[in-house]
Amino acid sequence: MLIDTHVHLNAEQYNEDLEEVIERAQAEGVKTMVVVGFDTETITRAIELAEKYPFLYASVGWHPVDAIDMTDEDLKWLEELASHPKVVALGEMGLDYHWDKSPKDIQKEVFRKQIALAKKVKLPIIIHNREATQDVMDILKEEGAEEVGGIMHCFSGSEEIAKECMKMNFYISFGGPVTFKNAKNVKEVAAQIPLDRLLVETDCPYLTPHPFRGKRNEPAYVKLVAEEIAALKDVPFEKIAEITTANAKKLFGID
Ligand SMILES: [Zn+2]
Ligand SMILES: [Zn+2]
Repeated sequence: MLIDTHVHLNAEQYNEDLEEVIERAQAEGVKTMVVVGFDTETITRAIELAEKYPFLYASVGWHPVDAIDMTDEDLKWLEELASHPKVVALGEMGLDYHWDKSPKDIQKEVFRKQIALAKKVKLPIIIHNREATQDVMDILKEEGAEEVGGIMHCFSGSEEIAKECMKMNFYISFGGPVTFKNAKNVKEVAAQIPLDRLLVETDCPYLTPHPFRGKRNEPAYVKLVAEEIAALKDVPFEKIAEITTANAKKLFGID
C-alpha cells in the first residue's frame, strides 16, 4: 500500500476520467490520497472529493502564486474548514519567486498568517517552495512552525536544508523529479533522508515521473517514485511503501 500525500485530483485535467484515474491508483496499491486545494475553486472541489470518497482526504490553503487573492474572509473560511473531519492539513502554502503574480511581501504575509492559523487549529502544514529557500526557512523559524510540523512538498533542496527542516519537525516528500535521469542532486539527497522522515507524492497532474514525463501525471505513478527511492536507498520497495504509509498516517492522524 502507498499513500500519495499530494494530488490535485481537483484539477480540471481530471474532469473527463476521474473514476478511471482513481481505479488505476487503487489497482497499483495507492489506497489513500490527499487532495490539495490552493484557491477558492480548488479548495471547494478538494472538500467535495474528500466527502465523496472515503479514501480521499483534503488539505486546504492559499498557494503563494495566488497569495494576492486571499482575503480576510478566505482566512476565516480556512479556519472553519480546519475542523472538517476530512481536512488533515493546511496548505499548500509557502513562497514562489518563479512567478510574479503576487509580490514577495504579500506572499510572505499570507504565508505567515497561514502558519499562525495552523498553530491555532493544530494542523500540520504543506510547504511549497520555489526559488525561495532562504526566505521559506526564515519564516518557518520566525513563526515557530516547528510546533505543527508538516511536509516539505516535492523537495529539491540540499541535504543541509533537509536536515534543518527535519529538525523543525518536517517530513521530506519526493515526487516525480527524483526519477528524472538528470536529477543527480535530488537523488543524492533522497538517498540520505532517514526512513522515518520520508514521504512520497505525485503533485499530479504536474511533474510526471520517468518514463511518462511530459504526459499528464496521476496518483498510480507514485509507485514509480517509491521504487526509485527504494533503489537509491538500496531498501526493498515493500519497506519504502510500508514506512512512508506509516509516516503519512501518523502525520495526518488517519488510519
Ligand atoms: Zn506546490
Ligand atoms: Zn501542488
